[in-house]
Amino acid sequence: MDFSWTKEEVALWDEISQFARTELHNDDLIERDQQYVFVEANWQKCAAKGLFGLAMPAEYGGSGHKLITTVHALEALGYGCPDNGLTLAVNGQTWSVQMPILKFGTDEQKRKYLPKLIDGSWKGAHAVTEPEAGSDVFAMATRAQKTEGGYILNGQKILVGMAPLADVYVLFATLNPTAGRWGVTAFIVDANTPGIVRGAPGEKMGLRTEPFGDITLNDVFVPRSNVLGREGSGASIFNASMTLERSFIFSSHLGSMARQLDDTIAYANHRKQGGQTIGKYQSVANRIANMKLRLETARSFLYKAAWMVDQGMDATLQAAMTKLTVSEFFVENSLDSIRVHGGRGYLPETGVERDLRDAVGGVLYAGTSDIQRNLIAALLGL
Ligand SMILES: Cc1cc2nc3c(=O)[nH]c(=O)nc-3n(C[C@H](O)[C@H](O)[C@H](O)COP(=O)(O)OP(=O)(O)OC[C@H]3O[C@@H](n4cnc5c(N)ncnc54)[C@H](O)[C@@H]3O)c2cc1C
Repeated sequence: MDFSWTKEEVALWDEISQFARTELHNDDLIERDQQYVFVEANWQKCAAKGLFGLAMPAEYGGSGHKLITTVHALEALGYGCPDNGLTLAVNGQTWSVQMPILKFGTDEQKRKYLPKLIDGSWKGAHAVTEPEAGSDVFAMATRAQKTEGGYILNGQKILVGMAPLADVYVLFATLNPTAGRWGVTAFIVDANTPGIVRGAPGEKMGLRTEPFGDITLNDVFVPRSNVLGREGSGASIFNASMTLERSFIFSSHLGSMARQLDDTIAYANHRKQGGQTIGKYQSVANRIANMKLRLETARSFLYKAAWMVDQGMDATLQAAMTKLTVSEFFVENSLDSIRVHGGRGYLPETGVERDLRDAVGGVLYAGTSDIQRNLIAALLGL
C-alpha cells in the first residue's frame, strides 16, 4: 500500500479546502443550525466546483478521479467547511445515489440521471429505512407489484436524508415480502411521480442543515426501465452500495475531525489558567494526543478502504471496520474537544457542541455500530 500523495492530489486538497473556506457561505451557521436551514447556493457552488463528479466518468460530466483522490478532495471539503450537514448531503448523494446508478444502471439510466445529479440540476436521496425495518433492512414492507409496463409501489420510507428536496430516489421495495432479501428490488424513482407524498422536514439532534424526512408511496407507478439492476437483485445492490457508503460517506467528516483538532490545539495554546496555557497541563495534552491518534487511525482505515476498492479488492470487512472506527472516533474527539474548551465548548459559539451532535448521527446511519460489529464478526466466521 502506498498512501503518498501525488502533486495533483496536494494541489486538489489546497484548492478544495480553500474553496470550502472562502466560497461556501457559513458565517451564519450557528443560526442556520438552530433554524434547520439548507443553503441551496452552497449546494450549487459544490456542484459548480465539480464535487459531485469527482469519481464519475467524464462522459457524464465527471472528472474520473480514483477513489483515493476523491476521498482526499472530500476530506478537504470537510476541513474547509464546518457545515457537516451540507458535507454529509454531498457525500450521501455521491456514494449512495450516483455510485449505485453508475455501477448498476443501464446506459440509458446513467445518461438520464448522472449528468443532472453531477451538475446540480437534480438532487438525489437513498430511501431504504422503514418504520419496522431499520437494522433488519430486508424485512421491508414497501411493496412493488407488477403491472403493465412496470410496477406499482406502496409503502413508507423514513429518516431519509435529503428526502424533502430530492428530485430522484434510489428506493428499495419488495415484490415478495415472504422471500426476505431475495424479494427486494432497487428502483430509480422520480420524486414528482403522482402518489409520492413527502413529509415535512423533521427535527433532529444534529446535521440540521441537511433536511431529512419521510416518503409515503401511494400507488406510485414506476416504469420497468427504472428498475436498477435486475428484478430481485436489490439486496446485492444494497450491499454493494453499502460497502461504498460505509467506507466513504465519512470522507468529509474526516476533514471535520482534522479541523476540529487544529482548532482544539489552537485553543489549548491560547487559553491560560493558573498562569500557563492549558495545553501545558498533561491531562489536556494527553486528551489532544488521543484526538490525534483517533484521527490518524480513522484516516488509515478510510484510505485503506479506498486503496482496496481502487485495486478491485473486496472491501466489505474493511468498510464495516472503517464505518465503525470513523463514526465512533468522531464522537469521542468531539467530546474531548468540548472538554478542552471547558464551559465555552458547551455553547454554540465554538462549534464543537454542534460537531458532537452531528457526529452522533454517524453511529446510526448506514448501519449502527452494533450492526458493523455483527458484520465484522460474521466475516470473521463467528
Ligand atoms: C442522521 C441520520 C441519517 C439517516 N439517513 C438515512 C437515509 O438517507 N436513508 C435511509 O434509508 N435511512 C437513513 N437513516 C436511518 C438509519 O439507517 C437507521 O436509523 C438505522 O439503520 C437504524 O435503524 P433503526 O433506527 O430502525 O434502529 P433499530 O434497527 O430499531 O435499532 C435500535 C437499536 O437496536 C440495535 N439492534 C437492532 N438490530 C440489532 C442486531 N441484529 N444486532 C445488534 N443490535 C441490533 C441497534 O444497533 C440499535 O442500537 C438515517 C438515520 C439517521 C439518524
